Amino acid sequence: MTNQQKSLPAWPAIVHGKCPRCRRGDMFATPMYGFKAQVMNKTCPHCGLLFEREPGYFYVAMLVSYAMFVAEMVTMAVAIHVLTGSSNPWLYVSIILSVGVLLSPFNFRYSRIMLLHWLTPGLHYQPETSADRVE
Ligand SMILES: [Zn+2]
Repeated sequence: MTNQQKSLPAWPAIVHGKCPRCRRGDMFATPMYGFKAQVMNKTCPHCGLLFEREPGYFYVAMLVSYAMFVAEMVTMAVAIHVLTGSSNPWLYVSIILSVGVLLSPFNFRYSRIMLLHWLTPGLHYQPETSADRVE
């Protein structure tokens, strides 16, 4: 190998919402929490990967975010039970729904990140694409 390409680790790329192919370009054009709606880049600004693999691809992400929401609800229900020992259903409903709303931008973003990083066959990290672009 003549080309000494330093490969980028997976976890920082996943946490920061980077492109699954080059791990450098941002998947999202807006911050996770803000007054503007979240906007996803159509293609990777670094390597040009098309994020929406086919029309309607992100409907699958809704299933992923649903699974995340269920997992969060169960976690919260257990946490409420352990912390308060309460059996009042309204306590559970109000806390779970308000935390669910707070987490929805997080779920929106990470469901798409998980879909592209882990659940898309044939889409893998290609270290050669993370090199600095020759302008
Ligand atoms: Zn990329």
